[in-house]
Amino acid sequence: MTGGLARRAVVTGGAGFLGSHLCEALLARGYEVVCVDNLSTSDGTNVSHLLGDVGFSFVRADITEGLMIDGPVDAVAHLASPASPADYLRLPLQTLDVASRGSEACLRLAAEHGARYLLASTSEVYGDPLVHPQPETYWGNVNSIGPRSVYDESKRFAETLSMAWARERGIDVGIVRIFNTYGPRLREGDGRVVSNFIVQALTGRPLTVYGDGRQTRSLCYQSDLITGLVAMLDARGVTGPVNLGNTSELTVLELASLVLDATGSSSEVVHLEALKDDPTRRKPDITRAGELLGWAPAVSLADGLLSTISWFAERLGVRTLLK
Ligand code: UDP
Repeated sequence: MTGGLARRAVVTGGAGFLGSHLCEALLARGYEVVCVDNLSTSDGTNVSHLLGDVGFSFVRADITEGLMIDGPVDAVAHLASPASPADYLRLPLQTLDVASRGSEACLRLAAEHGARYLLASTSEVYGDPLVHPQPETYWGNVNSIGPRSVYDESKRFAETLSMAWARERGIDVGIVRIFNTYGPRLREGDGRVVSNFIVQALTGRPLTVYGDGRQTRSLCYQSDLITGLVAMLDARGVTGPVNLGNTSELTVLELASLVLDATGSSSEVVHLEALKDDPTRRKPDITRAGELLGWAPAVSLADGLLSTISWFAERLGVRTLLK
């Protein structure tokens, strides 16, 4: 290690949406980065531009089978998991595996190298919250046998496992609970609300609102979230958990009309059946992130949506009126 900062980081799920942005941010800060991914919900294109970087290496591996990395490791950032409801509902057993056996492999690697271990947990640990906004002290309201439990409960277990390794083996654990995040590199067919609405609006298809659309989310732009992840990785000794997310809450219907306005699309809005156990409200209390990390999001929803729309428009070859 140099100057108190970790210099070589292993990022699991490094080819995914947030993983690839994290790899890039760490490289820019002078880290060497080992990106590990089994490409189960990505295809490698998010990191193909990094392959020529001497500090970057890519390992295609399924971490549930163990994780062997040669050379020093100063930080392990465990982001690997299907993260979109559509993905984890399609891959329930893989989702449970990567948070349980996969987390254990990451913790073992961190233990072998005396590395800082960062767990990407989720606002889903709060389930359908009865406390609003959600502080880290809230224990949550999760249906342990519902379809979403493969994600919610496995991430809760991953937190528990991390804390047990921290207490029993002295691992330097940091847990972040990531709230809804959007931006370039969301997969087109990912299924999450921002990517769905933008792609639907740009291609003239109806925007699919699940249920009455009055459920809320609070949307954080990827670069803000990445700043928070890097701050937590650098904050040795800070265990958390720490919420990372934007506090600007809006309904799904409000998001639909923002996307229609921003794209100039004349797509209609259709209502489909509500998802089972879909949280009705979600908004982070980010006081702790401010106190412990000096972190707060800076990108407005309007700006973040515009850059995300431009990115999708270019990928889809759609001409828009965006500047
Ligand atoms: N949603 C929707 N239409 C879509 C995709 C999602 O109405 O095409 C809703 C979904 O029911 C949820 C919210 O948007 O209430 C956020 O869903 P997303 O999958 O993005 O993330 P979640 O917060 O559920 O993990």
